[in-house]
Amino acid sequence: MIEPLPPGATIGILGGGQLGRMLALAAVRLGLRTHVFDASPNGPGAQVATNSTTAAYTDTAALKAFARTVDVVTYEFENIPTEALDVLDEILPIRPGRRALAVSQDRLTEKEFLKGIGLATAPYAAVTTPDDLARAAERTGLPAILKTRRFGYDGKGQIRLQKADSNVVERLNGAPAILEGFVKFQREVSVIAARGLDGATVAFDPGENVHRDGILHRTTVPAAMPRARVQDAVLIAARILEALDYVGVMGIELFEHQGGLIVNEIAPRVHNSGHWTQNGCVIDQFEQHIRAIAGWPLGDGRRHSDVVMENLIGADVDRVAELAQDGVALHLYGKTEARPGRKMGHVNRITGRT
Ligand code: AMP
Repeated sequence: MIEPLPPGATIGILGGGQLGRMLALAAVRLGLRTHVFDASPNGPGAQVATNSTTAAYTDTAALKAFARTVDVVTYEFENIPTEALDVLDEILPIRPGRRALAVSQDRLTEKEFLKGIGLATAPYAAVTTPDDLARAAERTGLPAILKTRRFGYDGKGQIRLQKADSNVVERLNGAPAILEGFVKFQREVSVIAARGLDGATVAFDPGENVHRDGILHRTTVPAAMPRARVQDAVLIAARILEALDYVGVMGIELFEHQGGLIVNEIAPRVHNSGHWTQNGCVIDQFEQHIRAIAGWPLGDGRRHSDVVMENLIGADVDRVAELAQDGVALHLYGKTEARPGRKMGHVNRITGRT
């Protein structure tokens, strides 16, 4: 029997960046309270949350105190130390659950999981020492990309290789890695999907993504994909969520190439490439996630508008006045310092109605 959280219940959010902020805003709109746990003070999430705790993820006492004030815990990033989850797990539900975290925290585990449920990935091989590289390259072919297994994001911890030069492995400072064959994709797309506590699964329309310097620059919906591929993308998402007995929103990044779709990676959380849903759908990814983890019915995720989402990175945020035109929704994260490469906000431009 599923017990939905009552209005007034408190959602605990690990991580207080922009995703935590937008989750908190959605929760508050649904009559829920929020408590953000973050290592640094006054971040984007803490600015809008009902309560916040500033402490390290290794601070057991702070984690326990946090857990006592909330009804369910969710998170906005996947690299939460396992020790923190051990503490919280004993006290209350963590949604999405630990399996999804374990799978997505390690690129090798992730690839093996995907392969295990019959989904296509780029060819890959583990690389632990420089000596492994040549053998790995035989498996993957060249060119290839060497990626650290853990803690990579926005293209960090990745080296592109034209030849199997074992010296490059040293640049990873001993971090276990995976070599991936380079996929000649036609486009990058992502599906934002959600699964409720009752197992109901819904997906937003796939968006087409363009990266710059390894960071998402633009998402366009609808993606220029044949209808059958759109259906494939949604079926892939559903298979992943089901296999993980997942609860919440997940971002699934795919490569579309001549032969079909390949799963690049999964993120067990709301995702930057799903920000378009804020202005393209009645129920956006943030509300959908809160509904799922609260045990409420999901919305259908139908799209009412075509949208182009663009990230405002670093000094882009100075262009706000110029960007704020008719049909453009501004979303700014309350970060004071516009460092290069830092996500400061995004804009959603409505380009048509469906
Ligand atoms: P990731 O952190 O794995 O999402 O990689 C960041 C970006 O690098 C992706 O969005 C792609 O543009 C590119 N990339 C990653 N892996 C591959 C691959 N195996 N083949 C081609 N491009 C890739």
